Amino acid sequence: EMEDTIFSKIIRREVPADIVYEDDDTLAFLDIKPVAPGHTLVIPKKPVRNIFDADDATLIAVMRTIQKISPAVRDAVGAHGVHINSNHEAAAGQIVFHLHFHIVPRHSRSEFSFWPQKDFSRDDAAAIAEKIRANIK
Ligand code: 5GP
Repeated sequence: EMEDTIFSKIIRREVPADIVYEDDDTLAFLDIKPVAPGHTLVIPKKPVRNIFDADDATLIAVMRTIQKISPAVRDAVGAHGVHINSNHEAAAGQIVFHLHFHIVPRHSRSEFSFWPQKDFSRDDAAAIAEKIRANIK
């Protein structure tokens, strides 16, 4: 059994949140520390830790909700696009260990940038691609 997180308490209405959408399997609410106004979190009601242990049905339900509400998030703040971002495990910045996706509205490309990109070595890439293929179960 997964330990309770703050998101379980939001699902149970024990902690207040600005809920924007709910269905049988998912909940969406505003992030308490938004990257930009309208920054929304989409979570499954089922307590799943992250991508490494999520079942298909849970992921599908969450992705459907992301698709359903993304245009509303975008239009509510007059944005032109969204980031759909998700962190899995502490090394990747996951703080709340209940699967969630961030929908972050974007108004322009020059607003800000995550993703410090690096140069690409052909040989390294080929070796990594080979390891990934070999690790797929
Ligand atoms: P992570 O870093 O795990 O991907 O993101 C967790 C997110 O949850 C953060 O962006 C954080 O601001 C948000 N968050 C943490 N606690 C609460 C809370 O109690 N209420 C709401 N609405 N958001 C929260």
